[in-house]
Amino acid sequence: MSSVLEIIPLGGIGEFGMNCMALRYGDEMLILDAGMGFPEESVYGVDVSIPNFNFLEEYRDDITAVVLTHGHEDHIGALPYILKRFNVPVYCSHFTAGLAESKLEEHDLLGDVLLHRVESREVVDIGSFSIEFIRVSHSLVDCFSLAIKTPVGTIIHTGDYKVDETPVIGEPIDLRSFRRYGQEGVLALLSDSTNATVPGRTPSERAVIPAFEEIFSEASGRIVVAAFASSIHRLQIVLDVAQQFNRRVCVLGRSMQKNVDVADRLGYLDIPDGLLVSLNDAKQMSDDAIVFLVTGSQGESRAALSQMATQSYKGLMIEEGDTVVLSARIIPGNERLISRMIGFIYKRGANIIEEKRRLVHVSGHASQEDIRIMTEAVRPKFVVPVHGEYRMLFRHKEFVKNHLGYPEENIILIENGDVLELDGERAAVIDKREIGRTFIDETGFEEIESDTVRERKQLAYEGTVTAVITLDAETGELLEDPRIVAKGVRGLSTSNGSSTTATAEANSALLDDAKRILTSATVGASRQTLEDDSLLKEHLRVELKRFIQKQTGSRPVITPVVVRV
Ligand SMILES: [Zn+2]
Repeated sequence: MSSVLEIIPLGGIGEFGMNCMALRYGDEMLILDAGMGFPEESVYGVDVSIPNFNFLEEYRDDITAVVLTHGHEDHIGALPYILKRFNVPVYCSHFTAGLAESKLEEHDLLGDVLLHRVESREVVDIGSFSIEFIRVSHSLVDCFSLAIKTPVGTIIHTGDYKVDETPVIGEPIDLRSFRRYGQEGVLALLSDSTNATVPGRTPSERAVIPAFEEIFSEASGRIVVAAFASSIHRLQIVLDVAQQFNRRVCVLGRSMQKNVDVADRLGYLDIPDGLLVSLNDAKQMSDDAIVFLVTGSQGESRAALSQMATQSYKGLMIEEGDTVVLSARIIPGNERLISRMIGFIYKRGANIIEEKRRLVHVSGHASQEDIRIMTEAVRPKFVVPVHGEYRMLFRHKEFVKNHLGYPEENIILIENGDVLELDGERAAVIDKREIGRTFIDETGFEEIESDTVRERKQLAYEGTVTAVITLDAETGELLEDPRIVAKGVRGLSTSNGSSTTATAEANSALLDDAKRILTSATVGASRQTLEDDSLLKEHLRVELKRFIQKQTGSRPVITPVVVRV
C-alpha cells in the first residue's frame, strides 16, 4: 500500500458548479461533495450536468463515504446519481440533510441511504481519515469546512465560505478551530476561489437590512422580492422586515416553498404565527399589506417572477405601483435573460431595485481579505485554490503569492481529473484522468449520454441525412435506386424550398452523385457485410459521410436504412 494521499477533483475546478472531489489513501476513498453544474444555456434539452462517475467504478470497493460541506445544488445536486451507483453513507449537517432528504425522496432513494447528521466540531472517523466539521458562514445556513486528518497530514477543505462574524441565523465562522489546526500544522488548504478577484472583505449577511428597511418604508404598493431559494439568511431578513412594516408574506415558486418549509421545520427560520399567507388570501389584501417572496431572480422563464412579468403566475401579474427587488447576484451567463425580464417589469409599470442601485444583495463567498484571514489562520504548507473558473483560481494564486508571501511552488493550480499527490513533504500532479460530465434531463431525472448530446448538437448545426437502400432478401441485390432525404444540411437539401434554380440544380447533381456512391458501396460490399444489417449500415454511413463532407463541408447525422423485400 502506498503511503501517499491523492486528491482528484471530479468537477468544480476551472468551471462554475459541479463541485466534487475524491480523496484517496491506500485502498480508501472519500468523496467530498457531489454537485451539479448548470450548462450556460439550456440547449439540446440539457438542463444540468453532473461529473461522470464512471471514473469511480475502478474504486468501487474503496469508496467509504460521501461528505457534504453544505446544501447548495452545486454541492449536493449529484448526490442521488452517485448514490444510485455507490451506496455509501453520507455525512453532513442537519440542514444539508434536510435538503438532501427531499432530493433523495424525489429519486425514490430515501429508504436506502444512510444519512449521518453531524454537529459543528464533531469528529468522525472513517477508516484512515478523521474528519472534523468546522462551522463557516455562507449565504446558506449550517455550512461546514472539513478538517481531514490523514496519515500524511491534515487537509482543510473550506467548502464555500466567507468570514461573517454577524450572520443572521446561527453561529459565526469558527475561526478559533481553524487557528487550532494552524498551530498543529496543516499540510494543504483547499480554498474557495469564487470571489478571489474581489478586493476587500465580503459584507455580513446583515448588511442588506438597511436597504430593505428603506425600500419597505418607501413603498406604498405591493412588494415583490426575488431571491435564491437557498439564501436562508436573506429570507429571514425579508420575513423580519415584513413583520416590522406590518406586511404579510406570500411565498411563491416550488423551490422557495420547499426551502422555506425545510428551514422552518428544522428550526432555522423564525416565522411569527400568521405572517405567512396563501396566494388566495394575498390576492384579497390591500397592496401595502403584502410582500411576495418569489423564485426567478435569474430571469428563468418558468419561475414565478418571469411569469408574473409576462403572462401571469396563477392569476398574479406585476402591476403599476409594485416594487420589485432583485435580491441576488447575476450568475454569469444569465445576463440577457435577466435584462429581458427587467424590461418586462418596467413595461408593466413597476419599479425595480437591483444590486447596482441599492445594497440588496451580498455575496456568500470569501473576497481577498477573507481569503487572507482564512489562510493566515490555517497557515498551510500548500494552498490549492478550488471552486471557480480558471481566472478566479489564478487570481487566488496571485493574491496568496503577492500578499501573503507564499512561494509559487507551494500554491498548486489543479484541473478536473488531475491526480495531486501529497506525501507530507512534496505535492505534485502525477497523473491526469479523463473524467468528463454526464448530462441530466431534469424533467425525468434521466442521464443523457454525452453521445446523445453530441448528436443533438450535430442535428441542430449540421442537419440530418436519411438514406434508404432496398435489397432483395434472397440474393442481397440492390432492387432500386437508393433514396436520400436531407434536412437542414448545408448544400444538400431535398426539401422543395424557395432555393434558386441554380442551387437546386447543383443540389440535385450532388444528390445523384450521393446515390451513385451508395449504389457502388452496396454493390462493392463483401458478402459478409451484405448479409449483416448493422455492418452494411455502418459501411454505407462511412462512405456517405466521406462524400458529403468532401463536397459540402457539412457533417450531418447520417441514418442509413436497409430494407429487405
Ligand atoms: Zn454554496
